[in-house]
Amino acid sequence: HHTLGEQITDWDQKRAAYMAENSGANRTNTGKPRILLVSGSQPKPCDNPMGDYLILKNLKNKVDYCRLHDIEIFYNMAHLDMEMSGFWAKLPLLRKLMLNHPEIEWIWWMDSDAFFTDMQFELPMDKYENHNMVLHGWYDLLYQQRSWIGLNTGSFLIRNCQWSLDILDAWAPYGPKGKPRTEGGKLLTKYLDGRPEFEADDQSALIYLLLSQKEKWAEKTYLESSYFLHGYWVILVESYEKLMEKYHPGFGDDRWPFVTHFVGCKPCHGSSGDYSAERCTKQMERAFNFADNQILQMYGYQHPNLETYAVKKIVEPASNVKNPSGLTNPVDQPRLLR
Ligand code: UDP
Ligand code: MN
Repeated sequence: HHTLGEQITDWDQKRAAYMAENSGANRTNTGKPRILLVSGSQPKPCDNPMGDYLILKNLKNKVDYCRLHDIEIFYNMAHLDMEMSGFWAKLPLLRKLMLNHPEIEWIWWMDSDAFFTDMQFELPMDKYENHNMVLHGWYDLLYQQRSWIGLNTGSFLIRNCQWSLDILDAWAPYGPKGKPRTEGGKLLTKYLDGRPEFEADDQSALIYLLLSQKEKWAEKTYLESSYFLHGYWVILVESYEKLMEKYHPGFGDDRWPFVTHFVGCKPCHGSSGDYSAERCTKQMERAFNFADNQILQMYGYQHPNLETYAVKKIVEPASNVKNPSGLTNPVDQPRLLR
């Protein structure tokens, strides 16, 4: 049976010893828990020539958000474990990063098809003090209805601790290519509500774990729905213009979604997903531009509309002498960054 590596049982002690010698290492300069944002994409170029362009834009989007919020980034393009390919690649990667970076308190996995669309919103980390994993989801949909979309694994937080190494170990057996994944898929489709027939995926397997070993994992798993830690793109992308008229960044919820995730789009492989390549590409560009406006505005530029990569000047560039932090928006968006 496949494992993620030699079993580790004393990570909490080891990490505590590290922290004793490196006091405060797991906090940023401003005292926030140290977060490492982790994302990745396949090692090869995309089949669809547009794919790599969209992946680059997505990475720029993540770089922008992380720079503004003092979050570190790790981007992976290697298959660390040939058995754990595709959406399973995150498991061996997260484990490796936890062990190599005891100074990191939280790892934040975010898919390469998920965009930050609120550049101002910050995670309410205090709320998660007593939890080890945070995912967008709903208690009833998950535990009562056993829905396969009761939570989403496209954008989630996992704490650097023994509990997390344990859940990764319990989660991994459904991932290996071949029999475990195909047999696993059958089991998951039978067990979960609404799941189409396909090979085992990480999201369904995590839901299965939470349902079948609830006493072990549920208590430390926080299901967040007060803002879009993950937001399903189909219900969000058409309303960006309306939101721009009525609201401003900073809410993270349906007034200004924090994350827009293109579930079911396969930008790298053209139209093999659930939606047409044209629709996915067009809407990803819109999501990118919606977010990019929040960056460009700080420098006095803006996309004239969400459909174009073109930009126009909106004011003279802000002077860094008069405004040394460079963080106050010169235009009509005073709350963009405090
Ligand atoms: N991924 C990766 N390496 C690979 C293939 C995929 O790191 O070789 C990541 C990538 O970030 C992708 C994620 O796995 O976004 C999950 O897959 P996808 O977003 O296609 O699934 P969906 O969200 O549509 O269910
Ligand atoms: Mn995704």
